[in-house]
Amino acid sequence: MAFDSLSEKLQNVFKNLRSKGRLTEEDVKAALKEVKMALLEADVNFKVVKNFVKTVQERAVGQDVMNSLTPGQMVIKLVNEELVNLMGSETTEIALKPSNEITVIMMCGLQGAGKTTTTAKIAGKLKQKGRRPLLAACDIYRPAAIEQLKVNGEKQGVEVFSMGTSHKPVDIAKAAIEHAAAHNENVVILDTAGRLHVDEDMMGELQEIKENIDIDQTILVVDSMTGQDAVNVAKTFHEKIEIDGVILTKLDGDTRGGAALSIRAVTGCPILYVGMGEKLSDLEQFYPDRMASRILG
Ligand code: GDP
Repeated sequence: MAFDSLSEKLQNVFKNLRSKGRLTEEDVKAALKEVKMALLEADVNFKVVKNFVKTVQERAVGQDVMNSLTPGQMVIKLVNEELVNLMGSETTEIALKPSNEITVIMMCGLQGAGKTTTTAKIAGKLKQKGRRPLLAACDIYRPAAIEQLKVNGEKQGVEVFSMGTSHKPVDIAKAAIEHAAAHNENVVILDTAGRLHVDEDMMGELQEIKENIDIDQTILVVDSMTGQDAVNVAKTFHEKIEIDGVILTKLDGDTRGGAALSIRAVTGCPILYVGMGEKLSDLEQFYPDRMASRILG
């Protein structure tokens, strides 16, 4: 499970703090140094870690933690609060239009990040909310991706719109929206092509879709196991096409958790959901406070 090692290290730091009756400013500094090391080892972005420790330190001094009755407890509370802040404080939902209008969601991400799987997972969540989603296969480079979307769509009981590989993604997207309007579907989720690396062609294609179609939500899927690479990918996508939120996949296999702790702070984009497994039901809403509690144990 994600954060195992970070969790263990932070718990050790806190155990030491709690065992001391009174704390000096030096004790707090030493503890925060260990927190800093633990976060860096969890592959959290360096600048994010620096700011994090500075903020906790300043708040500890500001609140006169050293003279409080339970100084150790106070430091833990501050670390908890700042972890929650780091991850965006509040849960962000995918913004949907009223049910009588069509919401268009564009899913993007690098190949292998889990985009196609996540697209089907999201369709399932929307169905649970009483929406009628339509999945649109806009990856014209990999016929296998279209097939995979069809298989997953069927599992979810959601229609998949495809025009094969000989039309431009932007035209497939337009046709999918018309299809949805004609079939009383109210969310169109575009599964766009992923490439191995961020490249001009990929961004150009996504930009073309955004320029020609009213996209309500642009969602980036990134693989948490790639750590700071995932953060850099998110930063680049946000700069190029402006994303509304991130879905972090494979958190079930990510022992470090650095991407989850850095993405919001580095890009300003919220994490919407986290992928917790390969099954189509393995998608969880992202709650910064629960995640912080999970980390602190
Ligand atoms: P795409 O190329 O981005 O469309 O990626 P796919 O949807 O094909 O997913 C790539 C692989 O990652 C597949 O084997 C998925 O089953 C797997 N995968 C996707 N999301 C998760 C997740 O949250 N946890 C785990 N363990 N595997 C995932």
